[in-house]
Amino acid sequence: MNDPKDLIIVGAGIAGVSAAIYAKRSGLDFLIFEPQAVGGQLLLMQDIDNYVGIGLGLKGVQMAQTLVKTLDDLEIEVINERISKAEFEKDQVIFQSEDATYIAKTAIIATGASFKKLGLAKEAKFTGKGISYCAVCDGFFFKGKDVAVVGGGNTAVEEALYLSDIANKVTLIHRRDKLRSLDYLQKQLLAKDNVEIAYNSVVVEPKGKELLEEIIIEDNLTKDKRTIALQGLFVAIGINPATEIFKELVARDDKGFIITDQEMKSSCDLVWACGDCRKRPLKQLITAASEGATAALSAYKHIKGHYISS
Ligand code: NDP
Repeated sequence: MNDPKDLIIVGAGIAGVSAAIYAKRSGLDFLIFEPQAVGGQLLLMQDIDNYVGIGLGLKGVQMAQTLVKTLDDLEIEVINERISKAEFEKDQVIFQSEDATYIAKTAIIATGASFKKLGLAKEAKFTGKGISYCAVCDGFFFKGKDVAVVGGGNTAVEEALYLSDIANKVTLIHRRDKLRSLDYLQKQLLAKDNVEIAYNSVVVEPKGKELLEEIIIEDNLTKDKRTIALQGLFVAIGINPATEIFKELVARDDKGFIITDQEMKSSCDLVWACGDCRKRPLKQLITAASEGATAALSAYKHIKGHYISS
């Protein structure tokens, strides 16, 4: 067992890294854990054109590299271990990884989220063999081929736009009669001549021998089914929060998002949450960064009894 820290941050996406920057500058004695690469979903994003102060066109990967450099410059070491258990006892939070037990006076959960699945019988079979959850990661493999994207939100429309420049044809399959994505994205999509939108439709079956060869989609209204021959199916239907291991520690909503107040404090007095693992109205990079800062300064206030600026 290590000495108790002031703070443990779980997750090094933009929310967790933002919390770490503020924790460092506040002089807190803290640890930050991330079992994968620093940057989280940033690593899957294309151009970041809606983050104030960085101009247009910065790639998600470049921003993730900037986070790594900032952590380095601030001499913050990210511990590459997966936290597998979390509990609290009196005035301490106790985390366990495969390698060790860590205790702290406070904790920030910034574990983000993973991609939602369609829930189809053969979805797992074709994952990596035609079904993908990330166009930026896998789009390249479908150069000149026919693909489909499922979903009607910003992610789905952005993925369809991205793929329309690579693939021969893109079919966007959406379960309702209108998209929920931003207007400017919809306009860009409608201007593409190799994109077709299948409204009121759901995928009912992916088919193929080894690789995906076709999908069957069903019209929600008429129940008519049709087959689309394609090589790639990109699922962009939202995210599931990575909060399962914290379910005994903090209150979550019915979808598993951690419920917090406006200072990012959870139902546990020693724990704050920020970013995509938290129930929030806006799932944006800029709000995740802001929430990370708020969470760190709130943890600081809990430990020191006052905000850093007071
Ligand atoms: P959203 O929750 O916004 O959209 C998910 C879409 O998938 C919805 O259209 C939903 O349908 C559909 N869907 C959900 N479950 C299923 C299912 N089982 N089968 C078929 N369709 C399904 O998620 P996004 O990932 O698009 O976006 C997440 C957040 O990130 C949003 O707040 C978004 O605005 C933000 N974002 C912003 C970007 C930007 O500003 N450029 C880029 C990307 C994301 P229905 O409409 O019927 O609910």
